Amino acid sequence: MTILDGKLTSQKVREKIKAEVDLIPEGVRHPGLAVIIVGDDPASHVYVRNKKKGCEEVGFLSREYALPESTTEEELLSLVEELNGDSEIDGILVQLPLPKHLDDKKIIESISPAKDVDAFSYHNVGRITVGDYDFLPCTPAGVMELLDTYGIDPSGKSAVVVGRSNIVGKPQALLLLQANATVTVAHSKTKNLAEVTKGADILVVAIGKAKFVTADMVKEGAVVVDVGMNRDENGKLCGDVDFESVKEKASYITPVPGGVGPMTITELLKNTLTAYKRNNK
Ligand code: NDP
Repeated sequence: MTILDGKLTSQKVREKIKAEVDLIPEGVRHPGLAVIIVGDDPASHVYVRNKKKGCEEVGFLSREYALPESTTEEELLSLVEELNGDSEIDGILVQLPLPKHLDDKKIIESISPAKDVDAFSYHNVGRITVGDYDFLPCTPAGVMELLDTYGIDPSGKSAVVVGRSNIVGKPQALLLLQANATVTVAHSKTKNLAEVTKGADILVVAIGKAKFVTADMVKEGAVVVDVGMNRDENGKLCGDVDFESVKEKASYITPVPGGVGPMTITELLKNTLTAYKRNNK
């Protein structure tokens, strides 16, 4: 069994990004990412801090806008509008979920598609669907990069994605399809889930249920990618896959933490660099 090491892979990709940034001549601006967070959800603040750290590591300008829970839709829309026109900013990210009184969709749609580095807007989702895109959504793109780094080619393989959210499951299925896998998407209404998952050469799990996928649900020799981020009964970070039992059957497996998580932020940095290059053309 081989560990799909997201930390190491991510570090290598970040080194490449930094090497590109180091080539920017003196006096020319660096790529810039603006992250907006509304309210005080502790998990969201951790994600935002890690994004900021990632930016600093590769030499990007990073701006954080921490707004109070009471922020109105008009105030948030006006900040996004201002950043759409800000020539120092290449990427705008609004940390989700937003407080209930704010409309996620409306806010995401207000980000200029050229700065939508999360690739959540309808424009970018549409482009991804037809395979003609500038940005890929960060988590599924991170999974593809991890597979590629370890020489795992999905072409002709049977891939099962468990979970169908708009930010992970659905785009993951699309990317695997574009990589020529035969893709099945499973979800909470899927019958005989274990039978479905046992058919997978590549199994990607993104459901948000601690240690849900057990060894009896996995084919011998499968590649297992665990997107989940949960807390176990002792408050320890864990994935959707029961790592200890599944690792005995898998040929490759991602750990949690240290698997998909670090890749997600790295893909965000890649998208910001892509946006910068397009803006500076
Ligand atoms: P959502 O809650 O939006 O979606 C969960 C999906 O899982 C739904 O499609 C749901 O099905 C399906 N599901 C839930 N229970 C079951 C079940 N018992 N059997 C089969 N399918 C089930 O979650 P996200 O996609 O946003 O996130 C999934 C996990 O990934 C979470 O743990 C999250 O924290 C993590 N995550 C990690 C990231 C990273 O960087 N590593 C980034 C983003 C997310 P249905 O549609 O039928 O309700």
